[in-house]
Amino acid sequence: MINSTLPVAIIGGGPVGIAAAAQLVKRNEAFILFESGKEIGTNFLDYGHVRLFSPWEYNIDDAAKELLLKHHISLPPKDELPLGEDIVCKYLKPLSQLPEMKPYIHVNSRVLHVGKKGFDKVKTKGRDQAPFIIRVKVGNNEEKIYEAKAVIDATGTWQNPNPLNAEGLITNNEIRVSDQIYYGIPDVLNRDKDRFKNKNVAVVGSGHSAINTLLDLAQLKKQTENTEIIWILRKQDITEVFGGEGNDQLPARGQLGTRLRNILDKGEIKAYPSMFIESISPAFGGKLNILGHQQQEHKMINNIDEIIANTGARPDFQFLKEIRHSFDSALECVPDLADLIDPNIHSCGTVRPHGEKELRQPEKNFYIIGSKSYGRAPTFLLATGYEQARSVIAYITGDRESAQQVKLKLPETGVCKLTPKPSAAKTSCCCD
Ligand SMILES: Cc1cc2nc3c(=O)[nH]c(=O)nc-3n(C[C@H](O)[C@H](O)[C@H](O)COP(=O)(O)OP(=O)(O)OC[C@H]3O[C@@H](n4cnc5c(N)ncnc54)[C@H](O)[C@@H]3O)c2cc1C
Repeated sequence: MINSTLPVAIIGGGPVGIAAAAQLVKRNEAFILFESGKEIGTNFLDYGHVRLFSPWEYNIDDAAKELLLKHHISLPPKDELPLGEDIVCKYLKPLSQLPEMKPYIHVNSRVLHVGKKGFDKVKTKGRDQAPFIIRVKVGNNEEKIYEAKAVIDATGTWQNPNPLNAEGLITNNEIRVSDQIYYGIPDVLNRDKDRFKNKNVAVVGSGHSAINTLLDLAQLKKQTENTEIIWILRKQDITEVFGGEGNDQLPARGQLGTRLRNILDKGEIKAYPSMFIESISPAFGGKLNILGHQQQEHKMINNIDEIIANTGARPDFQFLKEIRHSFDSALECVPDLADLIDPNIHSCGTVRPHGEKELRQPEKNFYIIGSKSYGRAPTFLLATGYEQARSVIAYITGDRESAQQVKLKLPETGVCKLTPKPSAAKTSCCCD
């Protein structure tokens, strides 16, 4: 039988995992949180120099806010736009140091395996009553086993970037030249300046990460005149990347598109729309050649020094092999979210409110929340994750009524268009 005094285990100390912990504190429920990085908010620190497009008002979880205020810790101004590192330094860190949180947060602790005690995946009888077991790698060598009565996977996707290849498969060549590929958003104006200045740099991708990278590179080009910027994207229509611009309810998100449009208009970036990469190969003098096709024609882009891969990320299910979990076959998101967030159907970045019911997994008391719940879909927002955490924790702690009452008002992107799915009888759009 599950021992009800066992804690709820949270995997991942990003903003959504930490929000789940704050919700558990609010409900007087024991928790234990494992974070693989050496501090919480590891992924936000990876792009600590990037300014978020949503102001603090949308970036702080309600239960976390209550806890901070209880300890007289003042909150940042609601309308200020934080940097990635501010999310950690001004919010997650002070929160995680509070006496209700600190003893239960384990950093340098990577979860390697989650299972059910005494049960492999196949065995059913008595399964729901068995505690979860969690195998954790602590530091470099030590391994520890913990037990829990529920498990919340909030591990995000950032650490598993998609490869450059259009088919989504990593090729041997991509591995071979990986020293010249940066997966993520480099700090090209400061920390990583020497790597990119006066180089031919190709940026691959068309989401917010790519826009941030391109804007910074354009700044670098102003400072160092021999920097050349090449932009490779699969989208045919570049204007789709600009988003809602002035119509976006988050002005900073809209301005990203407008700033990119201005830079393109000035000819500072050479763009290759409709380009699908087939391979990357090393060339003479340490350069790279990018081979692909554009509008059915073969296309080779030569003489590249560095590639910045902003092609999105995908969830890691490796450590969940013995857990009964399901995911959408295309997006790898939680199945019930697929129709709400499918980028083939929705152009908008907002999504209908959802909670425990939509996030429920075949394994009782196991949930995937946060950006991982969106799988490969790119439009996740913190406010969505906080409401997921609130609803799931309400359900786990027996407050079914509160779990069902999902409330979420997200700022519209200003570009909501719905492409109907041929076979779907009805698809709800976030802008309905
Ligand atoms: C550049 C960028 C800008 C963004 N800007 C905004 C914005 O302005 N507004 C907004 O609302 N959203 C924004 N987002 C989207 C979203 O808020 C972030 O992706 C956010 O980090 C998601 O939080 P999370 O807690 O789900 O995942 P993450 O922050 O990715 O946290 C996951 C954590 O799990 C840990 N982990 C992973 N595997 C394991 C394991 N096996 N064991 C233990 N720990 C593990 C990681 O180290 C990490 O700390 C942005 C995203 C990006 C990439």
